Amino acid sequence: MDKLIDTHAHLDEISDTEKTIADAKAANVIAIIAVGSDIESNRKTLTLAEKYPGYVFPALGYHPYNLKAPEVDRNLQFIEANIGQAIAIGEIGLDYHKRVREKADKDFQQSVLRDLLNLARKYDKPALVHSRYAWRDCLDLVEAAQVARAVFHWYAGTSSVLRDIVDRGYYISATPAVEYHAEHRRAIKEIPLDRLLLETDAPVVYLRGSPEEYESRPVHLRRTLAGAAAVKGLETSALTATTENAIRFFRLPLLQV
Ligand SMILES: [Zn+2]
Repeated sequence: MDKLIDTHAHLDEISDTEKTIADAKAANVIAIIAVGSDIESNRKTLTLAEKYPGYVFPALGYHPYNLKAPEVDRNLQFIEANIGQAIAIGEIGLDYHKRVREKADKDFQQSVLRDLLNLARKYDKPALVHSRYAWRDCLDLVEAAQVARAVFHWYAGTSSVLRDIVDRGYYISATPAVEYHAEHRRAIKEIPLDRLLLETDAPVVYLRGSPEEYESRPVHLRRTLAGAAAVKGLETSALTATTENAIRFFRLPLLQV
């Protein structure tokens, strides 16, 4: 069975951690990048990474959903103070959905993202970017900050921004939504295999063929794998390349495929 890496999961939002990790290991998921969303979430993520060394790798972030003006400095300081333990900066980004903009307008979101990207550049960490309805602005800011490594996670934007992402040397990642979401499927079909990462964004609830819905877990990386392979018209074994991509992108030299 192919070895896989879940490059984006909110492990801090999952209560049954022991079972979650055991199930992931049984499905040959050899590592999980656990992303943080704010100070509390970053703290939990660091604790989980300490508990599962060499398996859970922590990214420290500040999610656009969680931005609050009085808390920005504290969040930036927490990330910088703990940057030595972080494998990446994320989840960070922009979200131009109306409900998010009502709480944090575009200018505010952009100014926070600029600061976070500057940390990524300063400490040479990859940036894990949420870009819903803000694909071009996200790419522009990542580029302007001269961040060397970035992934546009669960990318479902336009083909023209996708071409520029590829031109600039950046990556996108696939989630289980590749089974059914038209824009995401198109992006995964178009992205060259050497720029693709796989993830679950657990515990996001994805649509299924049945009325039953459930929270995702890193074990569902198998769904991402099968869905992405189907969209690309490849055998799942060909997508082992995405594990090599993740090792290169996050610089995980200890892991062998
Ligand atoms: Zn996420």
